[in-house]
Amino acid sequence: MKLLDMTRKYGNATYNYPFEPYVVPEGFRGKPAYDYEKCIGCAACAVACPSNAINVKLNEEKTKLVWEFDCARCIYCGRCDEVCPTNAVMLSDEFETAVRFDRKNLLERGCLEVEYCEKCNKPFTTKKLIAYDLERLKRVGWDEATLADKTKYIHTCPECKKDITVENSTQYFVRKRK
Ligand code: SF4
Ligand code: SF4
Repeated sequence: MKLLDMTRKYGNATYNYPFEPYVVPEGFRGKPAYDYEKCIGCAACAVACPSNAINVKLNEEKTKLVWEFDCARCIYCGRCDEVCPTNAVMLSDEFETAVRFDRKNLLERGCLEVEYCEKCNKPFTTKKLIAYDLERLKRVGWDEATLADKTKYIHTCPECKKDITVENSTQYFVRKRK
């Protein structure tokens, strides 16, 4: 009777989940939610993820950059959420992550269009990342000519940019010696 009195006085100490929805507390770290539209394929989340739950790599044909999340590996640390520049991946309130029969059902994917180097034609980044960078550089306030000059190699891969720099420096020193 004493126990019943205490229950009446203090109310329920447990929730009736799963018979009623469970409302998670503020700041809860649930399953990372991915928004394909916002993703630019920068791979910051994959680099930051300590458990390799996120992988960003080219597909076999080298025509798309594939963003892949494996919920089975996720430790809900929130690093991906912290580093994503566009809020394309954010921790959600979702905690019911079980799937039936096949663990592959835990995988989530997004495919992004790749950008090919204008010199060597190798894929080196995504079209969305180039567009994102250009948009941000436009906000710096440079005039058209400066912007064009600063971004003249934006469609060139890092290896070709390096070759161009070496070539330009060599020509510069040859001219100086004459
Ligand atoms: S929450 Fe942590 S472990 Fe999970 S995908 Fe993000 S960075 Fe990786
Ligand atoms: S989810 Fe965010 S951090 Fe990850 S690749 Fe997309 S834009 Fe970059």
